[in-house]
Amino acid sequence: MTRMNCFGVVGGDKRQIALAKSLAADGYTVYCAFLDTAEPLADVKKATLHEIAELCDYVILPLPVTEDARTLNAPLCENEVLLDDHFAKLMQEKIVFGGMLPKLYKTSEIWNEIETYDYNERDEFAVRNAVPTAEGAIEIAMHEYPGTINGSKCLVAGFGRIGKVLSHMLKGLEAEVTVSARSPQDLAAIEQFGYHPIQTCKIHETSGYDLIFNTIPAVVFDRKTLSKTAINTILIDLASRPGGVDFEAAHKLSVHVIQALSLPGKVAPKAAAEIIKRTIFNIIEEGLL
Ligand code: NAP
Repeated sequence: MTRMNCFGVVGGDKRQIALAKSLAADGYTVYCAFLDTAEPLADVKKATLHEIAELCDYVILPLPVTEDARTLNAPLCENEVLLDDHFAKLMQEKIVFGGMLPKLYKTSEIWNEIETYDYNERDEFAVRNAVPTAEGAIEIAMHEYPGTINGSKCLVAGFGRIGKVLSHMLKGLEAEVTVSARSPQDLAAIEQFGYHPIQTCKIHETSGYDLIFNTIPAVVFDRKTLSKTAINTILIDLASRPGGVDFEAAHKLSVHVIQALSLPGKVAPKAAAEIIKRTIFNIIEEGLL
């Protein structure tokens, strides 16, 4: 495949709409399916999956491509779109991009024969995506917390890509920021940046936070830790499913937990789409041209 002419954008949320428009604005021919929106789509043409299979070199599926390993993640489409052998067959001979593909592979053995790329697995994607995710988390905090972020006591659990950006933003808003990590290097860096460091395994020994942001994709907020969490603390869990909180225990202990998923698509679809586009172009430039 040496051409980069025609993209099919299939399913997904507002990110996919912004992505389709952005590709069309770059001069590519773009068709979209299962994006039933009243919003004008500029030069993007609506098409069926069959037409996309016929006309497009590249197909871009959403992030996540599926939640249930059975249907396409297509919140803007009225009807359920089954991910089955029929769907996969139409993708044969295409170059297919998507986010969190392992669940898609479970829907048909035909995917084994299809050239697929998971943009969500790429570091540059996760690093850039941390910005809209952190902004989205702060937006939720501002909405839910009755005080100001300025002067609030915040804990950021985890000092990875999201944890780093989020801590920086919270400090910029003049919150009192504590950050947890498990490696001595991260704890040293946390200190250097002017945050209060705490070992993740010792979170349960501290208290008094107004807001807790969890970025750790493991159940750090288990029954024991939650039992030490004040009822008026707001815990915003950013980790992808299954998340970092024992939700059942949180419910029983009346801890206010907000599971905040897919924030880039919700709060900054245009920026999130540009991040997806840049990642896909990097993949294409590295391997396909
Ligand atoms: P990351 O860079 O890998 O950072 C993860 C952090 O969690 C690191 O500090 C890591 O510590 C720590 N960690 C991992 N497993 C741990 C464990 N068992 N115990 C203690 N600490 C542990 O990931 P990220 O890019 O920041 O993303 C974090 C999560 O958010 C992921 O689940 C990701 O899928 C999700 N996400 C959510 C959204 C949203 O909209 N909510 C958007 C994008 C991503 P070490 O460095 O020591 O391993």
